[in-house]
Order: sequence, then structure tokens, then C-alpha cells
Amino acid sequence: MDCIFCKIVNKEIPSTIVYEDEEILAFEDVNPVAPVHILVIPKKHIRSLNDLTAEDSELVAKMMLVIQNIAKEKNIADAGYRVVNNCGELGGQAVHHIHFHLLGGREMLWPAG
Ligand code: AMP
Repeated sequence: MDCIFCKIVNKEIPSTIVYEDEEILAFEDVNPVAPVHILVIPKKHIRSLNDLTAEDSELVAKMMLVIQNIAKEKNIADAGYRVVNNCGELGGQAVHHIHFHLLGGREMLWPAG
């Protein structure tokens, strides 16, 4: 499968990993839009939020806790941060392997663009 994030999971493409366990990988976004910009992904290929099933519930909950821990480690937890999932074409999803953006270190605008 030609998925860039699967290649990152398999270490076929280099990345700056900030967290890894059996199911989850977190790494620096190569094109950061904030001082802290980390992508949190499941190691198994799930195309988008549309493709999650009830069986993925625990995995998604774990990903949220990974995000919470990284926010603490990066010292952005108290100030606040944003978690983003882009889903599908109108949602702006460019990489079709589900991922959550952790953005912090600056004030976030609302509404999002
Ligand atoms: P999205 O638009 O939500 O699909 O976001 C995809 C994100 O993946 C973008 O923020 C890209 O900068 C990021 N990205 C693409 N390729 C890489 C890579 N090889 N390493 C790290 N981040 C990447």
C-alpha cells in the first residue's frame, strides 16, 4: 500500500518520533504551522475518521491520552492547544491515514480556515 504514514510507521521514511508504542506513533509534522505541531496516528492503516468502527474506540481513546501527555511534555498543556482531524476532501485531508494534529505554542484562531 502506498501510504506515506505507513512508511513512517515502518521506518521506511525518516521522521522525528516523539512517542511510540505498539499501536500508536507520534511524530513532528514536516511542515509545522505552529511552534508545536505533532501528528498522532494509529500504526494500523485507517483511512479517515469515516472509517473508524466501534472496535477502534479504545485505540482512539488511547490516542487522546497520548496527545494529552505530549502536550504536558511540550509544556503547552496549561496554556492550551488545539487538536485537529481533517476528514475527507472538504475537510482538507491530504494524507489518507487517520491522524490528529496537536497544535500549540501560539494563540489559535477561530473559526478555523
Ligand atoms: P492533513 O492535511 O490533515 O492530511 O495533514 C497531513 C499532514 O502531514 C500535513 O500537515 C503535512 O505537513 C504532514 N506530512 C506530510 N508528509 C509528512 C512527513 N513525511 N513527515 C511528517 N509530516 C508529514
